[in-house]
Parts: sequence; structure tokens; C-alpha cells
Amino acid sequence: MAETKVATTMFEPELETMPSSDLRALQSERLVAMVRYAYDNVPLYRRRFEEAGLTPDDIKGLDDLPKIPFTVKDDLRDHYPYGILAVPREEVVRFHASSGTTGKPTVVSYTARDLDTWSRMMARTYASAGTTKADLVQNIYGYGLFTGGLGFHYGAERLGATVLPTSTGNTKKQLMLMRDLQSTVVACTPSYAVFLAEAAVEEGYDPRNDFALRIGTFGAEPWSEEARQKLEAVFGIRAYDCYGMSELYGPGVAVECSEQNGLHIWSDEFLAETIDPETQEPLPPGELGEMVFTMLTREAMPLLRYRTRDLARIVWDECPCGRTHPRIMRISGRDDDMLIVGGVNVFPSQIEEVLMSVPELGDQYEIIVDRDLLDKLSVRVEVAPGQDWTSAPLAGKVAENLTAVLSIRALVELLEPGTIERSLGKARRVIDLRTS
Ligand SMILES: [Zn+2]
Repeated sequence: MAETKVATTMFEPELETMPSSDLRALQSERLVAMVRYAYDNVPLYRRRFEEAGLTPDDIKGLDDLPKIPFTVKDDLRDHYPYGILAVPREEVVRFHASSGTTGKPTVVSYTARDLDTWSRMMARTYASAGTTKADLVQNIYGYGLFTGGLGFHYGAERLGATVLPTSTGNTKKQLMLMRDLQSTVVACTPSYAVFLAEAAVEEGYDPRNDFALRIGTFGAEPWSEEARQKLEAVFGIRAYDCYGMSELYGPGVAVECSEQNGLHIWSDEFLAETIDPETQEPLPPGELGEMVFTMLTREAMPLLRYRTRDLARIVWDECPCGRTHPRIMRISGRDDDMLIVGGVNVFPSQIEEVLMSVPELGDQYEIIVDRDLLDKLSVRVEVAPGQDWTSAPLAGKVAENLTAVLSIRALVELLEPGTIERSLGKARRVIDLRTS
């Protein structure tokens, strides 16, 4: 590679910078083929098309996208264990699974070509953040059913970088290896990175001098600009946000470039649109809406118009980095009942179940999520009539039960009966005070 003067590195420059009109044409062509493939190979899609009075012939290009029925998370859960598989099981070379509310996870599947595509998208993701073959990537994402570990692993190898697959946990060892092997890139959740920064100082390291880190690729949960600034200052790195979810291969759907102003969606593989979550009507580019993705070449588990429940703006403006792929300007939150708190999936129904199992408690409660640097979860709950709302042991017991179920710490505040404002309609149980 002779190209060293550019401010940004690209893994597949010809695809990442192709003219927008060519990119749209490629999407259009791939969409038509994918619809035909999904219809022919997945009974669910065939049924959905028939119910809508459509055949694949009705989808002639991007303009027909709004006609295609949505796919939602329940469609995947309803097809447990194999999901909406379009190939024989023996063509699947890997499964991953994401955690669900109770019991059954959502299983996602990959053919050999799917893994290849995913690895390329991850290699682009690393390169977009400035990673090169010369880098040593310390991958602290969890290896296993979660897509983070293997996704970041294969992407780094595809790029040609060196991987140190430390996976999660054992912070002291992470720091020791980070110093001794002189890792230059760290990949983990932003909340763990903040924790790592604090632990490094506590352990007596001088992070800017003892470590050789220059890049952090952080994702799998929303994080603030304040957290970015802190991480960049403590480690002397540039910190990049990336986006993905297991249903869409995993990480590697979109990532920030050298501009750190929006995340480029790899749009030759992921066709993104935004819809009004209420009316389900498509929105013009740049308007805040729910992101919906169609996977354009996936073999094992085709996804047509998958509703992510993530709210964001998508813009097609030119980016100074030279990439033509549209950018997600900001993940504004989830239009769903699931909360991501400190990187952990939390369902309000889990909290409700715990509260309801404690006889001293009433049935009125509020869940408050806030963030300074790290996310904080608080639960305010009324006691049952006649119970002592100043009882510290009771509050402690509730907090302990919540931690056992959620795997994260929750602050519990007991309230006198009648404190929480009653609502005539749907109770507003969750108050999310996080703003970015
Ligand atoms: Zn860019």
C-alpha cells in the first residue's frame, strides 16, 4: 500500500467511495435479487408477501421498498431455534445468539460467505478508525454466543492486524498485557473502557506513557461525548463509535470515520431507511425515525426491512473523508421496552417481576435511567399499605433481588403509598434521562 498521505484509511476504497448513484443502483439490483431469494427460500417471507398480495415481481427496485412487509424481533423468536433459515442446516457454519427477556434467546446463523462478508465489514470498520496491519488489537469483547468477540476478532485478522483475544474480565491481566505487549488498539464496550481507565490509574499505571494505545473502537451500547473526551484524554487515543446488532451479523454495520461526525453505514450490504414508528411510513433522509435495515446479500438468514427499534437520523451528505456511504448522525434511543444500561440488556418486565415477588411492596413503581459517565439504574417503588417505607433492610433486599436478576446494580428507593403520580393511560414506568 503506497497510499499513506490520506487522513483516513480504507479497507475497500473502491466500494467505500463509489459515487452515490452507483451505490443506489447496486442496492436496487441487490434488493430485487434478495427479495426473490427470500421469497423462494423462507416460508415466512413467502407467506408475508402472499398476505400483502405481492409477488417478487412487484419489487423492481428501491422505489418499491416501502411495499415490502416489515420483519420484527418476534419473527426471529417465533422461529426458535434455527430462526428464519434460508439454507439447509449443514450449510450453516456458525450460530450466534443474543439474550432475550426470559428463556429463549434469538439465534442467528451464518454461511461461510456470510462470515466472509461480515469479516470484510469489520475490516472496513477497523480501517475507518485508522487501524492498519501494523496494529496490535486487544479485543476485550466477550467471545462466545455474543457476536462482539468473534466479530471484532475476524475483522482484525481480515485486515491483517495482530489480535490479542483477551475477551472480557480480569481487569488486572488486561492492563498487564496491554502494557507488556504494547497493544495499540482496544476494542470493548465504552462502559468497560471507562472502567479500565479508572482501574489503570488505581493500579498505578500512567495510561498515556505506560500504554501504546492510539485507537479505541467502542460500541454495543450508546455512550456520551463526555465519555469519549474522558477516554481520549486518559489513554491519549482517538475513540470511535461503532454500531451493529446480532440480527444484522453483529458489530460492523456502521462506524465513525476520521471526522468522528456520524457513522457510515456499509450500504452495499445494509440497506438502511428510517420510518415513523407510529405510522410505519418511510421518512425523508435526515429526519429522526426508527432505523430499518434490509440485508442485501445475506444467505443463511435473510432480513427484509428489519425494525431495529433504534431511533436515529440518516444523512446522505458528502463526508470529507471521501466515503459516499450514508451516515447515522446519532442513536437517539430505543423505541422499545428494552433498555441498554451499561451495556447490559434490561427489560422493565424483569424489574416488575422482581418487585411483584416481594409481598411488602405495592404495585406502583418507576425505573429511572441516568448517565454521567456511566449508566445508572434506579428503581422507585411504593410499599404496600401498612408497610414501613423507611425500612433499610427491605430496600436492601429489593436491591439484592434486582441485582441477582439483572446482573447490574440498581439503586432502590422505597416510597410511601400514593407518592407516584397515577396515570389513566399506559403507565410511564421508564424515565430515561440520558440525552446522548
Ligand atoms: Zn466519513
